[in-house]
Amino acid sequence: MSLWPSSQLIYYNDFWSCLFFSIIILSIVIYWKAFHFYVIHRITHLWWSVQNSFREGDIGAFLYRYFHSLHHQSRNPGPWSGLSMHPVEHFLYYTRAYFSLLFSCHPLHFLYVKFNVDISPISGHDGYDDPVGGSAFHYLHHVSFNCNYGGSLINFDYLFGTYKEFVKKSINK
Ligand SMILES: [Zn+2]
Ligand SMILES: [Zn+2]
Repeated sequence: MSLWPSSQLIYYNDFWSCLFFSIIILSIVIYWKAFHFYVIHRITHLWWSVQNSFREGDIGAFLYRYFHSLHHQSRNPGPWSGLSMHPVEHFLYYTRAYFSLLFSCHPLHFLYVKFNVDISPISGHDGYDDPVGGSAFHYLHHVSFNCNYGGSLINFDYLFGTYKEFVKKSINK
């Protein structure tokens, strides 16, 4: 991050000097993550319906076919499936980390978001729903493709009508 030492980006280096601001930014980062993930993920799937194609103007069909479909090669995802994606999708996915660069911030804000971006896909694909992650929620997305685009923190899928509930079937019956 030579933009900070060269003063091309404004930042403050005393976290405690703007304590209220510092904590507010740290607090909203996790909600920003939920929103960013839903939007970036949703645009890489079909935008209108399952019958549209890129020739009919569906940009999502293009993005899915050439970029996001690589991530969906993991039909039974594991921890390492999370960051298994096309470089173009990596670029889109990591734009989440630049949120903190939009305004004057402390380097901790950037590092906090960056580590979150790096690590959170593990719990989203590890096959365990508890105690963290919501892996079952995202597992259903890998199986069905057209549901559960977001995460479990804020259910944007419920808001936008793409939510599908994961129903556990008992193996003992
Ligand atoms: Zn997807
Ligand atoms: Zn996935």
